[in-house]
Amino acid sequence: MTTVRQPSLPRGLWHPRRIGWRLTLGFGLLVLLMLLALAQASFQIRHITGMTQRFATGDMQRLLRVQALSLQTEGVGSALSRLMNAPRENRVLEYADVDERNRRIDGIIESLGKGALDPAQEEILQRLVACRAIYADAFIATVDQIEADNLKAATRELNQQVTPALKAMLVESNALLARERENIEAGLAQAQARFERVAQWVGALSVLAVALAAWLGYRTTQSVVLPLAQLESAARRIAAGDYASRVSTTRAEEVDRVGQALNTMTDAVAQRERQIVQLAYHDPLTDLPNRTALLNPPHPPDTAYNGLALMDLARLKVINETLGYGTGDTLIKELALRARTVVHEAAARGQIGPAPTTARLSGGTLAVAFTAANRAAVQALHDQMELALAAPAVCGGHSVDLSVAYGFADSAPEGAALPVVTLMRNAEVALHTAKRAAVGFAWYSEAQEAARLSHLSLVSDLRVAVATSQLQMWLQPKFSLQTGLAVGAEALVRWQHPSRGFVSPAEFVPFAEQTGYISMVTSWMLEQALRTLALWAPLHPELSIAVNMSTRDLLDPEFCQRVQRLITRHGVDPHSLRLEIVESGLMDDPQTSVAVLHALRELGIRLSIDDFGTGYSSLAYLQKLPVSELKIDRSFIDGIDGQPGTQRLVKTMIEMGHGMGLMVTAEGVETEAEKTTITRLGCDVMQGYLGSRPLHGAALQAWFDALPPVSA
Ligand code: C2E
Ligand code: CA
Ligand code: CA
Repeated sequence: MTTVRQPSLPRGLWHPRRIGWRLTLGFGLLVLLMLLALAQASFQIRHITGMTQRFATGDMQRLLRVQALSLQTEGVGSALSRLMNAPRENRVLEYADVDERNRRIDGIIESLGKGALDPAQEEILQRLVACRAIYADAFIATVDQIEADNLKAATRELNQQVTPALKAMLVESNALLARERENIEAGLAQAQARFERVAQWVGALSVLAVALAAWLGYRTTQSVVLPLAQLESAARRIAAGDYASRVSTTRAEEVDRVGQALNTMTDAVAQRERQIVQLAYHDPLTDLPNRTALLNPPHPPDTAYNGLALMDLARLKVINETLGYGTGDTLIKELALRARTVVHEAAARGQIGPAPTTARLSGGTLAVAFTAANRAAVQALHDQMELALAAPAVCGGHSVDLSVAYGFADSAPEGAALPVVTLMRNAEVALHTAKRAAVGFAWYSEAQEAARLSHLSLVSDLRVAVATSQLQMWLQPKFSLQTGLAVGAEALVRWQHPSRGFVSPAEFVPFAEQTGYISMVTSWMLEQALRTLALWAPLHPELSIAVNMSTRDLLDPEFCQRVQRLITRHGVDPHSLRLEIVESGLMDDPQTSVAVLHALRELGIRLSIDDFGTGYSSLAYLQKLPVSELKIDRSFIDGIDGQPGTQRLVKTMIEMGHGMGLMVTAEGVETEAEKTTITRLGCDVMQGYLGSRPLHGAALQAWFDALPPVSA
């Protein structure tokens, strides 16, 4: 797994990794700044208010007082002039006026002395007080002269002493006034400046707060949005099935926690997906890929296949039922193991391409998909496989033979790649052909060739063949192993084609089955068999003739009536007619076929299971069928005398057959040794080249004539 991790970021106070901290810090700073601006503004405003108040209550009053001083000083001058010129009786009034004014002047000077003054004002005030003292002395002297009626001296005193003193006082008072004005103006300017500073401060703080808010907003957005975007893209990658890359560390702790959870979830999902893939594409028994893995691989191979081999473990069903499912499983595992080794070695040699796939399809069927240069390479694979399977498998202490049928498909002659589905379907057809023909293996293209031939002429020829007696019925006698006497014969079709010569039933029967023409063949064979039975009956009524039924006939509900009409027409004992059915034929539509079988049994016809042990139906199922004979396929009998494993198998098959009340026949007995063995195993009837080859015409007649007469 690739891990994309960023270097861890500093975790200081100014680099907090938690979004919550970042927001708290950011907005806390913002609020602090705003509070600072507010505090500063309110402090300065209070200060300015204080200044204004002082200005209103102190400075302004002093100014008014100084103005009043000037007025009083001017007023006392004119009052003194009036006093000088007033008649004696009016002087009292004028004195009162002057006294009043003097008192006011003194009051003002006194109050001015009490207030806070700057040094310049202090100096002026001192000078004013001094002038006031001069004026007071001069005023008393003047009054004395007036009271002494010495007006001349009084006037002189007034002009020389009082008036200059008053003028000096006025000068000082005006100076004080000017000074006071100056002070007030300075105070106002100071307040103005202060106010402007406050405005600047608050403005600056506001700008700072706005900038900070903008910066915080940007940073917060970045620190939340970017990690979230990272999470989002990670989630999308996971959704797309990319479990390898991890969610990297972001700059936000909360997002990281979600990222961690996402990583954990990804691991869990990947783990579960691996399990699902394992379950979906893997066969637990053989440890091989399964059918799905071959047809729809999760990771398609680089090179497409041009060939496919199907290997089908023969007799699996019967092995399962007689030797147990454990043995069956062991055999499948053994087959898988050997096949895997052979395929691996062949791939290493470059015989079947670099990357063949071996898969288990179902039951005992394996498939190998490959890229082979030619058919010789595949033929070699077949030979290597057969060599590997030569030694029997050991299951539970006893040895069991591994017998396999092969179906091959390729894209010959082009050699180009084909879809696996097509290859598989073709190989299945080939495997079917191989089994039907009881040959070890078959190529699909051969089946195609046969199909092509059949298509072109054979099928239509078959119709003609039936009509023009190109078909022949050959009879292969069957013998009782107890008495050695003939018990009957199996009817086998032969086709003497006018231009192609002899055509094997293995070649045309499977195809006739596919096209439905087989019903004609069955009818024709039944006709021949019944005719023969009618001929035999007077001398040998104990002999039966068995006719092979096809799957098609089993699915034909009319079949039974046709057979009955024929039997009636030939006046034959239905008991002497046998019908052989292949067990796999029952599987296509079990309900209909079983119904047909029961109807036939009702007529008195006896039924046999043909090629027993090669198909997939179960013995338990066969038990329900109205059959009376079990014909063990000749692949079991071939060389049975030298195969203890097969003997055990066949013995069990025979015992089970007897257990169900069936007569057991061995097919394809070719040697005395085989005959001795099957007799020892308890078999009832034998059929095969050892007893007799299929017979026709004169040979058949000779055989019949040589039969010992039936003892009464
Ligand atoms: P089958 O029903 O299993 O017939 C037995 C086949 O084994 C016959 O091949 C017979 O000639 C052959 N045989 C008998 N004894 C021996 C022996 O000792 N060794 C060997 N190697 N072979 C032996 P045949 O006649 O070529 O028939 C092949 C198959 O064609 C039959 O297998 C049967 O499935 C089918 N078939 C033949 N005649 C008919 C028919 O009339 N109708 C239908 N539907 N199928 C038929
Ligand atoms: Ca048969
Ligand atoms: Ca047979």
